[in-house]
Amino acid sequence: MENKVSLLAPGGSPEMAQAAFLAGADAVYVGALGWSRRTARYELPDQDIGAINQLAKEMGKGVRVALNTNFSPLEMDLFLKKVERFAQWGVHGLILTDPGAMFLVKESFPQLEVHVSAGANAINLEDLRFYREIGVDMVVAPCNLTVEEITEIKRYVDVGIEVFLHSNTCFTYLGKCLMSSYFRYQWHRDQEGKNHFWGSPNRGGYCHRVCKAQWSMEKGDPVLLKNDMFLAFSNIPRYLEAGVDCLKIQGREYSIDLISDIVSFYRSLLDELTQQGKEVDMAAYLTQLEEISMKRDAQRNSRTHTVLQEVVEEIPLPL
Ligand code: SF4
Repeated sequence: MENKVSLLAPGGSPEMAQAAFLAGADAVYVGALGWSRRTARYELPDQDIGAINQLAKEMGKGVRVALNTNFSPLEMDLFLKKVERFAQWGVHGLILTDPGAMFLVKESFPQLEVHVSAGANAINLEDLRFYREIGVDMVVAPCNLTVEEITEIKRYVDVGIEVFLHSNTCFTYLGKCLMSSYFRYQWHRDQEGKNHFWGSPNRGGYCHRVCKAQWSMEKGDPVLLKNDMFLAFSNIPRYLEAGVDCLKIQGREYSIDLISDIVSFYRSLLDELTQQGKEVDMAAYLTQLEEISMKRDAQRNSRTHTVLQEVVEEIPLPL
């Protein structure tokens, strides 16, 4: 099997990006402050993105900048200025949600790769053909697409496909979920005219993971639901056979140590799986993944509890 799949890791900080590169990531993704589907805490100012980009160049790696919110028409000039700056720095690609913005970027900055964010919910062949026609390079598959659906897409549409290795399982489609906004909706405008949101991941705030709680009619502590963490692992050989182009590790909010462990794990697994004639001991990898997943669960559950608690405290009691 030819080794062409790339491993993409989170760059929640310059230190995390460096650790991910050293552990074997081919590229990192970073969120531009106010423009990605995460809270400001996990986004980066432009100077940090510049530093990561410089490091990536020195190490022969790539950087993708997430500007994947649905922004106001009044923010378009700010958006284009930002894109121009990143293009001048030689950033590798952008992750976008808005099809109009994708078209504009491809027309004005053809040197930039455009990646369709999972938030755009490209879920059928016609969606994928549309994105291909406007010139995008890669589409991030929504996390609830099955391996069969992804195989079908790769068979019929000539576009790069990126798949999540770890993610929260949304029971609706990511960019179409408005649940967090029902519980929390706040925003402010900064001096440049950029709007910053809470409670609306689609506009640059963050998801409060309200679907992860078992709700009752009474206000109270949320009870976390368990997620299946090993499905993507068992599917990796099939993703490679289908010709998936990029495997993505989520977790700008995790610790640097954990990201380093996760990247090393997948680097080693992918290198073995793509080595011609190599028998891979998947059971041994599964044992390693169980250890990593325990650390990851602890960090993820703690964060889920925190973001849920923020909205639980704001919910009025039923009348
Ligand atoms: S609340 Fe968040 S995790 Fe749950 S379905 Fe909506 S976007 Fe997905």
